[in-house]
Amino acid sequence: MKLQMVDVVGQYRNIKGDIDAAIHTVLDSGMFIQGKEVGELECEIAGYLGVKHAVGCSSGTDALQIAMMALGIGPGDEVITTPFTFVATAETIGILGAKPVYVDIDPVTMNIDPALIGNAVTAHTKAIIPVHLYGHPADMDPIMAVARAHRIPVIEDAAQAMGASYRGRKVCSIGAVGCISFFPSKNLGCFGDGGMVVTDDAGLADSMRVIAAHGSRVRYYHEVLGLNSRLDTLQAAILRVKLPHLPEYNTARRKAAARYGELLRGLPVTVPSAPPDVEHIFHQYTLRVPRRDALAAFLKEKGIPHAIYYPVPLHLQKAFAMSGGKPGDFPAAEQAAAEVISLPMHTELNEEHLLHITGAMREFYADRSSSR
Ligand SMILES: *Cc1c(COP(=O)(O)O)cnc(C)c1O
Repeated sequence: MKLQMVDVVGQYRNIKGDIDAAIHTVLDSGMFIQGKEVGELECEIAGYLGVKHAVGCSSGTDALQIAMMALGIGPGDEVITTPFTFVATAETIGILGAKPVYVDIDPVTMNIDPALIGNAVTAHTKAIIPVHLYGHPADMDPIMAVARAHRIPVIEDAAQAMGASYRGRKVCSIGAVGCISFFPSKNLGCFGDGGMVVTDDAGLADSMRVIAAHGSRVRYYHEVLGLNSRLDTLQAAILRVKLPHLPEYNTARRKAAARYGELLRGLPVTVPSAPPDVEHIFHQYTLRVPRRDALAAFLKEKGIPHAIYYPVPLHLQKAFAMSGGKPGDFPAAEQAAAEVISLPMHTELNEEHLLHITGAMREFYADRSSSR
């Protein structure tokens, strides 16, 4: 059986006619940069998320950088985030000359633990960046409460959680700024790199728009130093076709996750779960398992795709060595890094795939449950 971690081609085939037509409209228009589809998509995404402003940019990584630049974050500043995330979250903090200050994760949700944030706040703290890891919304109410108490803006890294909701609100609409990635494998993916920043604050939206376009409002007049970070018209046109399908895509992922949970019942693994008022949209289906590396080797032998998101927490990455992180600093993140494994998760998974994958998991734990 041919299994894939993600199936972007299968998803494309189902809407090929509409996508191809949208692409050709852009090709015929010649408006490859800042064509009308970009503005249309920005309005549609703002409407979908329930925010006032949305600004397209080149990637989720740039979205984070643009948000921090608009908030004036730079050398000497500190930004609080989780050590258990994709590198982009902290890389952008470091690139701006600011310091990532990590706070350990909640071992159940694997998102930043709100109870630990207060202790990490200093006079230099300029933002808090919770990450909605794997599509599971971070616990935003207590995060916003700490942020408000200290008057610190919250930037939501929603790269993995487009469409997820927390207590009736879409993620991205809760903090001062929400950052989205349209990387092909994300829940709403385009066919290359793309991203967006969203906010209710008109001033911030304006700054972010200017920063994303070389610091310029009127062409060849530059107010601030900015970036070349626009969302391509082609990608916007593709995303406009896909956005109306996002609810059904996320439902397909949630169904696959629920079925995984049933099929894995009884195994010594911890399946992901979310409280009833939090809608997890399963960018990844990530388990915590005993004997993780042996399981990964077994799945590899069986031809079953899997991945480790993420094997090394950011405080222990070489790129952040200057921050002086050492083993034991963030025990919950380090333990998660040693125990997590993600199984195939995408919109085209069917019962046969799920039976095959979970059958291999059963085989592994049946053979080895007592012996290793
Ligand atoms: C994918 C991702 C990003 C970066 O998005 P790109 O579009 O790939 O630049 C940032 N943060 C997290 C948590 C991600 O998963």
